[in-house]
Formats: sequence, C-alpha cells, structure tokens
Amino acid sequence: MKIVFFSAQPYDKEFFSKYNTQGFELLFLETGLNEQTVALAKEAEAVCVFVNDKVNAEIIEKMVSLKIKIISLRCAGFNNVDLEAAKKHGIKVCRVPAYSPEAVAEHAVAMLLTLNRKTHKAYNRVREQNFALQGLLGYNVHGKTIGVIGTGNIGKAFAKIMLGFGCKVIAFDLIANKELEAIGVMYHPLMEVLKADIISLHCPLTEQTHHLINEQTLAMMQDSAVLINTSRGGLVDTPAVINALKTGKISALGIDVYEQEEKLFFKDHSADIIEDDTIQRLMSFPNVLITAHQAFFTDEALMQIATITLNSIDGLLHEKEVEVLGAVLV
Ligand code: NAD
Repeated sequence: MKIVFFSAQPYDKEFFSKYNTQGFELLFLETGLNEQTVALAKEAEAVCVFVNDKVNAEIIEKMVSLKIKIISLRCAGFNNVDLEAAKKHGIKVCRVPAYSPEAVAEHAVAMLLTLNRKTHKAYNRVREQNFALQGLLGYNVHGKTIGVIGTGNIGKAFAKIMLGFGCKVIAFDLIANKELEAIGVMYHPLMEVLKADIISLHCPLTEQTHHLINEQTLAMMQDSAVLINTSRGGLVDTPAVINALKTGKISALGIDVYEQEEKLFFKDHSADIIEDDTIQRLMSFPNVLITAHQAFFTDEALMQIATITLNSIDGLLHEKEVEVLGAVLV
C-alpha cells in the first residue's frame, strides 16, 4: 500500500517514517500538488497533502483515473480541498482535526508577547551591544480584554492561556463553548468582540469568514488594537490591514499565515527577489511580526500529525472505524 506525499519537507519524512507502524510504502515528493504533478501519484492508494496544495475538481478527476482512493490532509484546515468533487467521485478525504492545539495557541501567545514587549528588537539590540531601553516600552497583557474569534480546539486553548494571564476574555463563535463560559469567557456578537484590546483569529477559512477582517470591521476596532492571525491568511484583507497600520488604527500585527503564502512559505527565498509587494510592505513595519506558518511546528504536534494521518488512512483502506472524531470529511 503506497502513500505519495506532496510538499514534503525533511521533517515530514522523519516523523512519518518513524511512526509508520503499518509498514506503508511512503514516497516523499518536495513538489506541491498541481494538475501536472498529480501524475506522480501513480500506483498509490493515497495521497497526503498539506495546507497549500490545492486539491481542485480537475485534480480530483485526474486522481480518479489514477485509482487513488484517499486524499489525506496532514493538517486541520481543509479549505484547499473541493470536498464536493471528492464525494462525487467516491474519494475519501481525511484530515487531522486536532493535533496539539496548544502548539498553535502558544505560538499566538508568543507573537503577542513579542510584539507587546518588543523582544524581537531587544534580541538584535543586545547583540549589537546596545543596552539602551529607549524605544522598547511595552505594556502589561494582564488586565487587557482579549477578543477570540473562533473557540474550537485552538481558540479554546488560547482563551485558557489568556485567562491565566489575568485577562478578560470575550469571544465570538457560531456555537458557544460551555466549558469556556464556565471559566469566565463571555460570548458576544462579532461587533462587540472586535472592540477588544487584542484580537486573535482562530476560526476556519470559509466563504463566511473570507476577509472577516476588512475595511469595515477594522473601523469597528478600537484605536491601537492588536491583531494576531494564526488561522488562515484569507481571513484578513491584507491591503486594508496595511492601511490600518499606516493610520495607527492597529498598533501591532502578528501573522503566521498570509493569503498569498503558497508562493513563499515553506521555502528558502533568501537569494530571490520577492515580487510580492504586499508582503514586502508588511515586512517593512516595525510593529509587524511575520512567521511562516510555523505555529503547528512542535515535536508533539508532528508526532500526532503522523500517527493520526497514518491511522486514518489505515482505517479508511481497511474499512475499520477511524479512531479520531472529525478526521473523515467525506
Ligand atoms: P476547530 O474546528 O476546532 O475550531 C474552529 C472554530 O471556529 C469552531 O468552534 C467553529 O464553530 C468556529 N467557526 C466556524 N465558522 C465561524 C465563523 N463564521 N465565525 C466564528 N467562528 C466560526 O479548528 P481548530 O483546530 O481550532 O483550528 C482553527 C483554525 O486554525 C483551522 O481552521 C486552521 O485554519 C488554523 N490552523 C493553523 C495552524 C498553523 O500552523 N498556523 C495549525 C492548525 C490550524
């Protein structure tokens, strides 16, 4: 039984090989999945893809002719897969619904604390033997109001950490989480949550949430709000956020995801000319912190991703029950 991995990185090879207790034949391809590269999955029963592999209807049709039975996402989000097309052609789709949500939640907190205490600047300054504090003034997160948009696995973990910091946590979700309500999180309409001091996005990218942060919603925020996005780049209208940074409406922005990230992220472009002027503009702001989709990237998370993915493929192939709730999408 063969699984072909697209967009595979050295760490994928390391973790999937280590946890391949089923003895699957694993083929790791550096290339992303597209209309041309899908042919490389010949003789495979399953393909394993990542966040920026676009699995559209055309690719799914080609998979049908290659007799591929399973599309497995080694991530939680599935906005990049045409589920309807997969269902129509009887191809099973699975994902890893939750793998160490704390990994992403803790990264969101790390971004917030870097921005509010300017540790990214302090690190460089001290290395230059500049021990002056001028320009590094921060503020306490304790006592601030945190707005959490989307309180699923990751948003819940993030809200709990922020409660531990002594923050007031308000949240918006389609479904209120009773466990969070019991420990003091208050659910409000989106318009109210946008008025928080610090806003962190943890909802999935859907038609409803595309450009959730736009010119209108930015106008509803308080002046000097802080925005953190570790969810999906498409939640944010980046040019609108750039304008808000220019006017000071937003005092700091932390993003681990970017709408056009597939052309840049997960690759070393240090010797290239970056043609994307939007990300170049973002990188020029002293109060913007960008990480390249690394929030999930912990030892614990990679172990869980590999284990859950391989178990789900095994379950689907052998018509056994898939152990993890929410792993099978169609
Ligand atoms: P989840 O499914 O557990 O939670 C998502 C929550 O968002 C749910 O509670 C859902 O009700 C809510 N939601 C759905 N539509 C909404 C809307 N229109 N408005 C408000 N809330 C809405 O997912 P999760 O595991 O918490 O992951 C959240 C997102 O984080 C994923 O969709 C993925 O895009 C992103 N993610 C990023 C990384 C990373 O490395 N940066 C890693 C994993 C996941």
